[in-house]
Amino acid sequence: HYPPKATNALVQSTCAYCGVGCGVDITINGEQATSLTGSPEHPANFGRLCVKGTHLLDTVDITNRLLVPEIAGEQVSWDTAISKVAGEFNKIIKQHGPDSVAFYVSGQLLTEDYYVANKLMKGYIGSANIDTNSRLCMSSAVSAYKRAFGEDVVPCDYQDLEHTDLIVLIGSNAAWTHPVLFQRMQRAKQINPACQLVVVDPRRTATAESAEQHLAINPGTDAALYNGLLNFLAEHEALDKAYINDNTQGFDEALAEASHWDMAKVSQFCGVSQAQLQDFYQLFLRSKKAISMYSMGINQSTSGVDKCHAIINVHLATGKIASLGSGPFSITGQPNAMGGREVGGLANQLAAHMDIENPAHRDLVQTFWQSPHIPTEQGAKAVDMIEQMQSGKIKAVWVMATNPLVSLPDHNQVAKAFEQCEFVVVSDCVADNDTLAYADVKLPATPWLEKNGTVTNSERRISRQRGALAPAGQAKHDWQIMSLVAQKMGFSGFDYQHPYQVFTEFAALSGYQNAGDSKRVFDMSGLARLTLAEYEQLQPVQWPIKGPIKAGVQKSARVFADGQFATVSGKAKFFAVTPQLPQQKVSKAYSLVLNSGRYRDQWHTMTRTGAASALTQHLAKPYIAVNPQDAIKLGLTEHQIAHVQSQTGELFVPVQVTDTVNFGECFMPIHWNGQFSSNATVSTLYNAVVDPISGQPELKHTGIAIEKANFA
Ligand code: SF4
Repeated sequence: HYPPKATNALVQSTCAYCGVGCGVDITINGEQATSLTGSPEHPANFGRLCVKGTHLLDTVDITNRLLVPEIAGEQVSWDTAISKVAGEFNKIIKQHGPDSVAFYVSGQLLTEDYYVANKLMKGYIGSANIDTNSRLCMSSAVSAYKRAFGEDVVPCDYQDLEHTDLIVLIGSNAAWTHPVLFQRMQRAKQINPACQLVVVDPRRTATAESAEQHLAINPGTDAALYNGLLNFLAEHEALDKAYINDNTQGFDEALAEASHWDMAKVSQFCGVSQAQLQDFYQLFLRSKKAISMYSMGINQSTSGVDKCHAIINVHLATGKIASLGSGPFSITGQPNAMGGREVGGLANQLAAHMDIENPAHRDLVQTFWQSPHIPTEQGAKAVDMIEQMQSGKIKAVWVMATNPLVSLPDHNQVAKAFEQCEFVVVSDCVADNDTLAYADVKLPATPWLEKNGTVTNSERRISRQRGALAPAGQAKHDWQIMSLVAQKMGFSGFDYQHPYQVFTEFAALSGYQNAGDSKRVFDMSGLARLTLAEYEQLQPVQWPIKGPIKAGVQKSARVFADGQFATVSGKAKFFAVTPQLPQQKVSKAYSLVLNSGRYRDQWHTMTRTGAASALTQHLAKPYIAVNPQDAIKLGLTEHQIAHVQSQTGELFVPVQVTDTVNFGECFMPIHWNGQFSSNATVSTLYNAVVDPISGQPELKHTGIAIEKANFA
């Protein structure tokens, strides 16, 4: 299919950035993509795009492409590079066992890439040491869904927004991070003026400014807010007792814990007035339908799983779940974070929503793959991986399509880990980034416009990402590169010639796993018998898809609508939540709280969006947002360079004085990497502490000290 031959040929694909998963129509002329617009019929965006999506083609920068494999900085043939990677991995595994190697992958990979990576590491190498940058994004939400519902299933759709009375956005600046979804919320409010938007966020973000109510809670206190809500609803007899009795377990314990959180206590703990709480709690009580949407502000916490449970508890207790217009709805950050979850791209999962700890699941996957191994225990999660690279337990790592030197917490320790690791392989489309600097072997991978496969968005909708251009230089697709390495390592089962073969194999596995377990929701076996032509023409489709697909855009049945969950008892579980404050506390020496997050016009570590001048026009430099009162106290003025220190590191960054952050709180965007600003990588300031269940790092709260930089 590369490249389309006709002039003005149309290729339908999916945006490469956030988890909204907007469809894009790309016009190809010759070997160039000449225009890009939103796909009018794509059910995620109906033609809309945000500023990042609109400028996708501006990021296609051939001058910063890795086009030829390299070993120790010298260009080599693919044969040589593949032999080197396979040889080193085999040697290290032979000497030190399968857990001495690891893959660190990415939500930028397509489902087909992710599946092959997971199959190679878990089924053939025999280790569960594969984790992903999605660990930093939504792993707390995954853990909570799994514990509460028995399976990692997001129970909402985007169309719920058009049918609800109340949208609570908690820990999410959707106006900047998921802009098209936010536009959809605004439109939903126009259609239904009774629909209210409440934003819970310590910062007065663009999202908060458009809300009917903004609860600027103390950082990290979200669980107490929702415990208080559960308590309030119970006191006002506004719970759905029939739903609780018929479909859930563990309610009494959850309520007992929540009942400690009366209005006065929540007000004091969360730092919002009782009148504000009363307004919010009454609004929730009055609303027949309600959605709680959340993302990193909830998940990136040392008690992120608890926070998710506090939210889910309220929805279970009110029956505001699994029906049109209601439910707890975590939004994914990356284009294929959800696809990674499906294929088992996290160190604690097996493919197709199966469990490493479950012997029957292990047996099933191993039999399906006909593989020599299957791990019996969870592997190293992202932060563990870095620790094990430092300790020497992990001796070889292969990083794919991500830049952990900038994104993982405690940058200085991450750099040491990569320096110490015996053998580092990096596959990427760009020639230069912070992590590539540590690579023994660099492998040129195809970027978004050249990749071909599928992604799944936040509402479980699978869309095709179609290769619009032929791979530049000698670049190969990630699934191809891994298949070549697997074959060279001596493994069978990797003779794929097309992503279609990978996709249909995975779809078949998703049905195979359900043969004896009808309660499980994840199933895309209806796609297992697609022909190649049907795969190429596939329109967006939401799982579960058990039967054969019909023409056009598919609509799936509402999950959990029958009140049956995937737990052993078939009932959803409440979890009692004792709200915890963040582990990285302020102290006398580091007395300001640092929050971090995305900026509207940039993406992750800027390796792609940094190339688009239109995206740097609005904001070209990093900044630290400081409240005016703090600025006066510290003698800081707008644009002045600040010296920022924490327990783990220091950086220099210009000051932005703004009352969008509260007194005592600061904010920095996450994007600036070593290429664009050599000393403003915010991860330098965060300790690598994680949620004990999900392993998700706490990247929203640490104590810092700021002073005017003195360069004398
Ligand atoms: Fe892309 Fe997300 Fe913007 Fe849609 S909202 S265009 S998926 S970045």
